[in-house]
Amino acid sequence: MKSVPVNLRNGDIAYLYDIAEAVCKRLATTSPATSSQHSAEALGNSILRQLFEVKKSSGGLRLSQSGTCARQLAYQYHHAVPNGMGIDANSRIAFAIGDATEAFLVSAIAEIAEGYSDKDFSVSCIGDNQETVSLPVDIHPGYQAIVPGHPDGSMVVLGTNAILEIKSMSEYAFGKFRSKGLTREDSYYWQVQAYMAAKGYAFAYVLAYNKAGNSKEAFVGDDGVWLPAPALHGQWIEFDHDTADNIHMKFRQVLVSDSPEDIERPYGPGKKGKLTFPCDYCAYYKTCFPNSEEQADETRWLKKNTKIKVYVRDSND
Ligand code: SF4
Repeated sequence: MKSVPVNLRNGDIAYLYDIAEAVCKRLATTSPATSSQHSAEALGNSILRQLFEVKKSSGGLRLSQSGTCARQLAYQYHHAVPNGMGIDANSRIAFAIGDATEAFLVSAIAEIAEGYSDKDFSVSCIGDNQETVSLPVDIHPGYQAIVPGHPDGSMVVLGTNAILEIKSMSEYAFGKFRSKGLTREDSYYWQVQAYMAAKGYAFAYVLAYNKAGNSKEAFVGDDGVWLPAPALHGQWIEFDHDTADNIHMKFRQVLVSDSPEDIERPYGPGKKGKLTFPCDYCAYYKTCFPNSEEQADETRWLKKNTKIKVYVRDSND
């Protein structure tokens, strides 16, 4: 498998595998299954759970929420009634497609790993065997709360342990991920940092796919040379102590709060009172901003597209 350079915080460079490229190659060239880790049942259940799952609001916090607004977490923790952005039919379909695609990509990675030794490249804790990891949060001297989480998998890559996380992204988010990668501004960055902190791992690999991607997507470099743009892209992320500390502090702030009102709103309305992300996706925005109301706005956002087109050239061209 091809290696990619990963710039480390101390100035060194580590070379780790380009898993996204390997997955693209494996998907383009199908062959009989060799891994014993596939579970059609787990894959099917991941889709059906969107139809059958009845979520009881326990108020419990999860590591996947590490990047979520602290006040929003406090509403959940204190059992406030959700009255903002809800989960509707559109969301369920998106979740089911996302879950199925993620399980499919995990299976592709398990297949690739069959060609390597366990130490060189292996994947575990996937599908039916998905692991619950736990991050202890100090509440009072001698008392810790445990925040659980479920990474998509664990890997060993060139002797290094790493978290595997697979994400589906909108075309816009995927373009941003491909050009800039995840940073502290992104909630997924916080999520994988929480998993690394829980497992004591130094690296995580985020494999993302473009939900709107198709075979005609192209990428034009600064030199004008174009290449097909795969709908998969990956990023190696190093453990970041500062973010891990902030995650710990955020969960502690929520767990010791008496009410969501103890936590100031970290976000607010912008121009003309408009609430933007993450507030407009928050399940509690009507409680947090009691005067908020929904309205339909028309936007005319022109976006640049680069597609592969086929031309028949004149032989004299
Ligand atoms: S509306 Fe915004 S500030 Fe208020 S809890 Fe939700 S995300 Fe946080």
